[in-house]
Amino acid sequence: MIKKLLPGGKRVDYREKQRHHKEFNQRRQLKQGEYVSFYKSGDWRTVRQEVLDRDYGLCQRCGKQGNIVDHIIPSKDDWKERLNADNLQTLCKHCHDVKTYREWCKREKGAHRYMRINIVCGLPDSGKEVWVKQRLSKHDLVYDYDALMHTITGLPLGEINYDAHDYIMLWYEQMLRKLRTEQTFDNVWIILTVPNENIDNVLSPYHDVIKHFLVLSSNSNSNQFKPKRKANQKLLNLFEKSDFSKFQKIYFEPTPRKMNGGYI
Ligand SMILES: [Zn+2]
Repeated sequence: MIKKLLPGGKRVDYREKQRHHKEFNQRRQLKQGEYVSFYKSGDWRTVRQEVLDRDYGLCQRCGKQGNIVDHIIPSKDDWKERLNADNLQTLCKHCHDVKTYREWCKREKGAHRYMRINIVCGLPDSGKEVWVKQRLSKHDLVYDYDALMHTITGLPLGEINYDAHDYIMLWYEQMLRKLRTEQTFDNVWIILTVPNENIDNVLSPYHDVIKHFLVLSSNSNSNQFKPKRKANQKLLNLFEKSDFSKFQKIYFEPTPRKMNGGYI
């Protein structure tokens, strides 16, 4: 019999431990028989291979080789979607471990189960950034095109440098791709003037996406809130042609408060 002394002088009986593990696994199999047999089923093996082929065997999070097929929304949480390829992705072991750990942390913390993605559109000076700031929670991500442009070029808010625009869009594409594979944040806020169809194309239908369309309240007194800048004509034309039918219309009246020369 293999025995080992613990610091307190107590002996560890490994055979006893093995017996416990065996019993635990048997109980697990009885309780979760359907769950365990699913991963041995022909249906799963077929879909799994299809997903690996679709993703060219590359981890959808880091781009390296991967051979784990992961449920974006865990199968335990949404059993009926277990064979839906839209809810499946290829991951490498490292990225899968990171994702699993984060899911575990979220459960342990009792935080929101899943990330909510908020798309916030509206004309310049409709108060989008103020509206978002009023709703931020502790573990959120904010993508604000205007703020990014201002930060990386130093230009006044609302002005666009088209060379810098390419860099911001690169980050935007990467961000959408990364968001697609993860449930990292409580909320993601994407602040844009007009809707961007990449959001619908890239983000899985299993993400909780809410679209908000901010309109200045019709009661808004022009003396109370004056637009800080003139929207450029190209943007206005694009705005006119945009489809907001899937957006929740929100009448918002930001209360202007000056700080360091700008609204906060
Ligand atoms: Zn990876």
